[in-house]
Amino acid sequence: MPTPTFRDFKLNKQLWSAIEDAGFTMPTEIQEKAIPLVLGGHDVLGIAQTGTGKTAAYLLPMLMKIKYAQGTDPRALIVVPARELAMQVVDHIKMFSKYTDLRYVALVGGTGTKTQKDALAEGVDIVVATPGRLMDMYLPGFLNLKAIQMFVMDEAERLLDMGFKHQIDRILAVMPAKKQNLLFSATWSEKVKTISEDFLEAPIEIRVSPEMKTVKTVSQIVYMVPNMRTKINLLDYLLKSEMLRKVMIFCKTKATATNISKYLERKYGSEMVRVLHGNKDHNTRMNAIRMFRDEPLRFLVATDVAARGIDIEGVSHVINFEVPLIYEDYVHRIGRTGRALRTGDSITFVAPGDEYHLKKIQKLIGNKIPVEDFPEEVEITETPYEERQSMLRDIDEQRRREDPEFKGAFHEKKRKEKKK
Ligand code: ADP
Ligand code: MG
Repeated sequence: MPTPTFRDFKLNKQLWSAIEDAGFTMPTEIQEKAIPLVLGGHDVLGIAQTGTGKTAAYLLPMLMKIKYAQGTDPRALIVVPARELAMQVVDHIKMFSKYTDLRYVALVGGTGTKTQKDALAEGVDIVVATPGRLMDMYLPGFLNLKAIQMFVMDEAERLLDMGFKHQIDRILAVMPAKKQNLLFSATWSEKVKTISEDFLEAPIEIRVSPEMKTVKTVSQIVYMVPNMRTKINLLDYLLKSEMLRKVMIFCKTKATATNISKYLERKYGSEMVRVLHGNKDHNTRMNAIRMFRDEPLRFLVATDVAARGIDIEGVSHVINFEVPLIYEDYVHRIGRTGRALRTGDSITFVAPGDEYHLKKIQKLIGNKIPVEDFPEEVEITETPYEERQSMLRDIDEQRRREDPEFKGAFHEKKRKEKKK
């Protein structure tokens, strides 16, 4: 079969040129499958993991259909769960619409409403929005949704997880019933199924990776590490290699993320490190991401919540300093590296209390992640009493979850004493 190119799609010269300028040479799998269907006017449910190019999969055919500036009210609406995602979609629109006169606006929180209102009043063709700000604009009448011909829910499962179902229903209720609906998601869940049944019209379902398969181009390994202190020793050792050029380090909690980033700052200088977590405001987060992409920043330390769905480019390595407890997050995390046909590596530190979660993750991704020998050069520090107790408790907890009959090897008594 000949290699597909973007010229194989029924787009136009303006789009083909913009795609070329963007440096996209080969469509990704989801693009190859979705673009013709969306151009054909079908409702589509597209499931493909993070970093596989879902944005262009719906945007290119959308821009082709919306074509040029017309009227005042928007004809296309894209709803996403977070501001950062909206900005990424807008960046893609900007990139692809450069040879057209299409007008677009991002309706997102965290900034004033004036510019957004002005843009709407002047007329836009495409709106990209988070649900909250969209309603804020719609309810007082700054936005008319009667002309919407195409509606996209991007990162649908996140939208639902974040509790936006109610807002989505309200938005759906005020748009014309006859329109093209597209739903994209990195993962498939019962909730996604339900909402697609609710509002997609005879949808064609595209699944690029059945179940959760990790990006093929990412090589994955795990290290078994007995405790926190030894994790730091191992991190130190790994970071000596210059191959680890742009490293994203994932932690479970804000506290650990902050500690690790402070540690790296002391060691490598503060200009090398930024941290992303839920407490950082929008601008700080966007700034950190930009600096990581464009400037000498070498480390980005993040929690899952803060990094969810954000497109961060040029990551050479992902280090899972802690194993995520939401197993899908593992796939999201390592999706940061090897994005869109680039290769990369993911390294996961597994503490004794995490072996259970590792098993679950392996089950989810459908393969075993090879265990790397612990490097001889790295000092193994003894596990402090508190940390050991806490790990043993976790392990008991996990056994109990698997086997409700299990009484617990770790002393139930001690636990009760502690609670007092
Ligand atoms: P997803 O939404 O599936 O997580 P994105 O649409 O954000 O993925 O794409 C991930 C990255 O890959 C973006 O930087 C995007 O510009 C880039 N990309 C997408 N498609 C291609 C392609 N065909 N060729 C090269 N880069 C691409
Ligand atoms: Mg996306």
